[in-house]
Amino acid sequence: MKFLTCFLLIASILVASTHALTLVQLTANYATGNGRVIQQKDSEFNSARFGYNHRYNRIPTVILQPYNTAAVQLALEYAQTNNLRVSIRSGGHSASALSALDDTVNIDLQYMKNKVFNAADMTITAQTGNKWVEMYEYTKDFGVGTPGGSCPSVGIGGLSLGGGANDLSTVFGHTVDNILELEVVLANRTVVVANAQENTDLYWALRGAGHGGFGIVTQIKYKAYNMRPTYYSNWIQYNWNDFEAVLKFVNEFSQTMPNTVNLYFTAWKSGAAATPSVALSCFSHLDPTNGAAAAQCAPFLTIPGVATPTAFPTTQSYYDTVRTGTDPKARRSFTKGSFLTEITKQTIRRIKMVMEDSPSSPYTYNTARLNLYWQGGEMLNRPRNYNAYVHRSHPWNAVWLSSYVTSTLEEEYHDWAKKADKKMSPYSSGEVYQNYPDDELDCWEDSYYAENYPRLRQIKTSYDPQNYFTGPQTIKSLNVYTY
Ligand SMILES: Cc1cc2nc3c(=O)[nH]c(=O)nc-3n(C[C@H](O)[C@H](O)[C@H](O)COP(=O)(O)OP(=O)(O)OC[C@H]3O[C@@H](n4cnc5c(N)ncnc54)[C@H](O)[C@@H]3O)c2cc1C
Repeated sequence: MKFLTCFLLIASILVASTHALTLVQLTANYATGNGRVIQQKDSEFNSARFGYNHRYNRIPTVILQPYNTAAVQLALEYAQTNNLRVSIRSGGHSASALSALDDTVNIDLQYMKNKVFNAADMTITAQTGNKWVEMYEYTKDFGVGTPGGSCPSVGIGGLSLGGGANDLSTVFGHTVDNILELEVVLANRTVVVANAQENTDLYWALRGAGHGGFGIVTQIKYKAYNMRPTYYSNWIQYNWNDFEAVLKFVNEFSQTMPNTVNLYFTAWKSGAAATPSVALSCFSHLDPTNGAAAAQCAPFLTIPGVATPTAFPTTQSYYDTVRTGTDPKARRSFTKGSFLTEITKQTIRRIKMVMEDSPSSPYTYNTARLNLYWQGGEMLNRPRNYNAYVHRSHPWNAVWLSSYVTSTLEEEYHDWAKKADKKMSPYSSGEVYQNYPDDELDCWEDSYYAENYPRLRQIKTSYDPQNYFTGPQTIKSLNVYTY
């Protein structure tokens, strides 16, 4: 019996080693121009495993940085034949650091940066390792663009798969609504294309739940639009005393404003400041050279009963808008939020109270912030089941963000973010933008996908029946029991 057990063990090792792709073999292949391998012993490993949120200290088994789709397939073969799971990274900006998980083969796509604009069919095809600043830098030379992200270092991969909104979206829609085709490496290591003709279910799912565990998306084709050479925007700062009057005016204005305006309202308390600050960004799609664009934002400079604000108007290319956007580095953070059902007098008072109760600290970089992103116009102009991105009913997306530099302040900033979320719950729709994942959500399936979730499970079952792509918030195949 002992002999038999021993024999079976040796036999199974032999079978595994015959079929397993070794790290040595993979490294040799990547060394021929197909990618980079970063092992735990390498000096680069420590910085390479961190993304935007340094609160998570995740340690993958190895980091693989493929240069092409075949190298992604090989990375998957290495992981699967060595009984390992993968985590997938494009730009590394996940609020819950879901793009680098413990004990996984981390597939980091940051070197896959091909981009092609096709003027004949007005499309941009880009590999998912591009960042939005690189996309807009490339497309500006053709006078075109597509709605994406507003911060330079956010990856096109993660943002595009979960929704995607920036100043261009009130006119052109969400990023997911402008995706025409995706190239995907599936769990069975085949490469497929998903579009309106092929793998249509997968195409539906990837546009909104694309980071939910359907595969590794290596390339995306977007609809391109002609862009203006420059756009007008105005950053307007008000006195804190005027907070209630300003937000009331902003909300009333938003109810009837044309799609050509986008608004971003923010309140924050940084470092040891005694009171929070409040500002509005007003962006216009109209012509900035004849006064039309400035006129759209002018009402925010003379709000009745509000002290004259300090305004910072800018006219620049959309590439410059993104290039000079906020790019917070190496912070620890908590992100919470939801789409608000409405902004009433009570909502405004509650937000003010939460902001005034936010922590103070000796470090200027430490910040407690509320962002109200306008997600109206063309973004709401689709049915909730148009694709897997469901949030089409309420235009204000409220995001509470606490970011800080030292772990000693973690509890204080965490408590504040949790309290903010709880205090706002009477005004919350319960729907949460999946691109700001919150690992403390009780039922992320409902919050991110609502009534679209059952269909997502069916599609997951077709494309990844064994549930190979698994993470803390990935969609479960129907073959897996959940309760
Ligand atoms: C500073 C900052 C600014 C932001 N600005 C905006 C904004 O203007 N508009 C907006 O809509 N959102 C914005 N976001 C949210 C942003 O959309 C998400 O953080 C998004 O997930 C980032 O994409 P990424 O590729 O950088 O992230 P990653 O951390 O690399 O990936 C995010 C998730 O997607 C998965 N994933 C990544 N690439 C792939 C792939 N190729 N195939 C399959 N799964 C993949 C990862 O595993 C992870 O679960 C911002 C976030 C930050 C931190």
